Amino acid sequence: MMDIKHQSQIDFFKSYVNNTQKLVIVPHNNPDGDALGSSLGLCNTLKNMGKEAVVISPNEFPDFLNWMHGVNDVLIYDKNVKKAQQLISEAGLVIFLDFNALSRIKCMEAFFKEDTTPRIMIDHHPYPENETAAVQISVPEASSTCELLFQVLIESGFETSITKEAAECIYAGIMTDTGSLNYNSSRPDTYLIVAKLLGMGIDKEHIHHMIFHNNSFDRMRLLGYALGTKMERLPKQKAAFIALGQDELKRFNFKPGDTEGFVNQALWIEGVQVSAMFTEKNNLVKASFRSRNGFPANRFSETYFNGGGHFNAAGGESKLSLSDTIERFKTTLKEFCDEHGF
Ligand code: 5GP
Ligand code: MN
Repeated sequence: MMDIKHQSQIDFFKSYVNNTQKLVIVPHNNPDGDALGSSLGLCNTLKNMGKEAVVISPNEFPDFLNWMHGVNDVLIYDKNVKKAQQLISEAGLVIFLDFNALSRIKCMEAFFKEDTTPRIMIDHHPYPENETAAVQISVPEASSTCELLFQVLIESGFETSITKEAAECIYAGIMTDTGSLNYNSSRPDTYLIVAKLLGMGIDKEHIHHMIFHNNSFDRMRLLGYALGTKMERLPKQKAAFIALGQDELKRFNFKPGDTEGFVNQALWIEGVQVSAMFTEKNNLVKASFRSRNGFPANRFSETYFNGGGHFNAAGGESKLSLSDTIERFKTTLKEFCDEHGF
């Protein structure tokens, strides 16, 4: 198993968990499979240890995750602010999963800037910000927070408390963050952990079906429209992108999660090294970037789209209109490619 080089943090995690009865777990805003999978994987494990644990998500999560065990008990912060704040004030420990900057929890950011409950962060994004948590278990080499969480639980001696249902959530996060072991999964440790999870009796076929092969009719039609009508190429920059406006999303009865993965497909074109997806929200445009080879998607997003993430998978946002965002993308990508020789 990987040396996670954080023994003192793990000791802290272990002793805090052992000595705390009430715990709160927080994933990032717009939680994805890894964020919610790690949160519920940990929550189910802690409950099995006799703890009172609750997951508080900044906002709603997509339907393709609603099969996870314990999902109905997830508290949505932006709909239950008072209750959430009370639970946090009663908790002895807060655990942040799958993010490393307070800005990633959006509507909860201001609260946690002031809150003094001890907190631990477990995450795999590069460049953690100090103020996120006093104790940080940060391993950017891990494929996913779920993979890292599993190792932390084992190294803390909690392996026997991981239930089959928790293992299913953890497996789901590894699969979503690696695109079913396509990306970011060259480390043998990832497979050793997957093998251990399978050994816990999880129903792999069912999980893959629920996450990847259970799309609504509308989502499949939206994908067809996005690829067939909306995808554009920028050959000089070896890039492709898709932008969807609110009117278009409405036409396909858009629900959170419906555009998940579209940005990857624009990267599957021969010769393309950067792909982008822009989705118009109420008061901003959400941006997603993917890259191959040496193009640093996180640095590009950080520089021009107020975002960040991993080297080959990053996100950000724009306060401009959708059409101005597209223009800005074209100009800044050209600038970035010219400057860095891509
Ligand atoms: P996605 O494009 O799937 O939303 O996100 C890809 C990666 O970028 C994820 O690891 C996610 O955590 C990160 N990411 C997405 N949006 C943002 C953002 O607005 N800011 C930062 N710093 N990271 C983001
Ligand atoms: Mn992740």
